[in-house]
Amino acid sequence: MSTSAIETHALLKKYDERDVIRDVSFSIRSGEIFGIIGPSGSGKSTLLRLLDLIEQPTGGRLTILGTDALVPDAKFLLRRRMALLSQKPVIFSRSVFDNIAIGMEYRKKVKSEISRAVTEALDAVGLAGYGKRSARTLSGGEAQRMALARAVVIDPEILFLDEPTTNLDPISAERIDDIIIRLNREKEMTVVISTHDMIQGQHLADRIGVIMDGALPQVGTTKEIFHQPTTTNIARFVGVKNMYSGVITENHGGEAIVDVAGIHIAAVTPFHPQTKVTLLFRPEDVTLHMEQSVKTSARNVFSGIIKKMIPSGPFVDVIVDCGIDLTALVTIQSSEDLGLARGVKCWVSFKATAIHVIEEQ
Ligand code: ADP
Ligand code: MG
Repeated sequence: MSTSAIETHALLKKYDERDVIRDVSFSIRSGEIFGIIGPSGSGKSTLLRLLDLIEQPTGGRLTILGTDALVPDAKFLLRRRMALLSQKPVIFSRSVFDNIAIGMEYRKKVKSEISRAVTEALDAVGLAGYGKRSARTLSGGEAQRMALARAVVIDPEILFLDEPTTNLDPISAERIDDIIIRLNREKEMTVVISTHDMIQGQHLADRIGVIMDGALPQVGTTKEIFHQPTTTNIARFVGVKNMYSGVITENHGGEAIVDVAGIHIAAVTPFHPQTKVTLLFRPEDVTLHMEQSVKTSARNVFSGIIKKMIPSGPFVDVIVDCGIDLTALVTIQSSEDLGLARGVKCWVSFKATAIHVIEEQ
């Protein structure tokens, strides 16, 4: 059974009488990578600073590594066992080695030990041999890896990362992600990472907490957060583009029909007939084809006319008017192969099991 690295209960933080963190209760398991996702200004950085004991909460309880973190004197010892890589780490105009050693020096370690630890940290972030370089000469990605080395040089049990790759190019960002995964696996470091980058959240985290307006409305596995969001706000935030209000008209042992603006959609849900519901499903779960007679096990097949195509990276969101607007995600390549364009007639299909049904709020 896994133990908790961090437990919060009704955590509260006020700035100037404003609740910036509101009634946050959750736990982070020892050894997991826990993602905190939320829009800008939702409280990600504040929550990380509370958990790292840089900020004092206004109320609530906080247990870290089995210790009540809010009793006087606990903070000092706990802070030695944790490290935070902040959103914009400070870089000193000194050597890379000195920049990393800073974290150790105030802990009054002996020189040989500092040297050994810094060398190991440089190695861990792929900067072996960079110690003598002036930190100012590093590229953005290298500088961020140096800052990561500064955080891990003390061998923390919990590593907090505040949007560590926001300002980096995709290759440097991937490199940082790989290092984080390795630190987690090899050193069994508990990692808590905030991000507004959904791909990073999905790729890295074992579990995710969604923070919105200072509250934490959902904590779950990556799959739960992205496919079974509990509110329409979360759904919108995690990229669930197909969202419809409807009424259940029949339900046979969980196989229900939902009336959405006169269109009948098959969904799997325990809710009874007459329940007002919202249907949520991702554009990745909608398949697009050019013939009606295509073989599919999907219960939902509709014809429609392409209304809009919105490119996003290597994909295109194709919005098809089927009486209701349905969004399908296709690759640029298959969009070209299929000859998709505005005004073209096509069919969309999606499985009853791909739909997440929540009761209308
Ligand atoms: P995020 O990291 O998700 O972008 P923050 O935690 O930085 O969000 O901020 C959450 C809210 O708290 C914002 O409205 C921000 O303006 C406010 N805030 C953050 N730090 C302070 C502070 N030191 N004093 C007053 N308000 C703050
Ligand atoms: Mg922030």
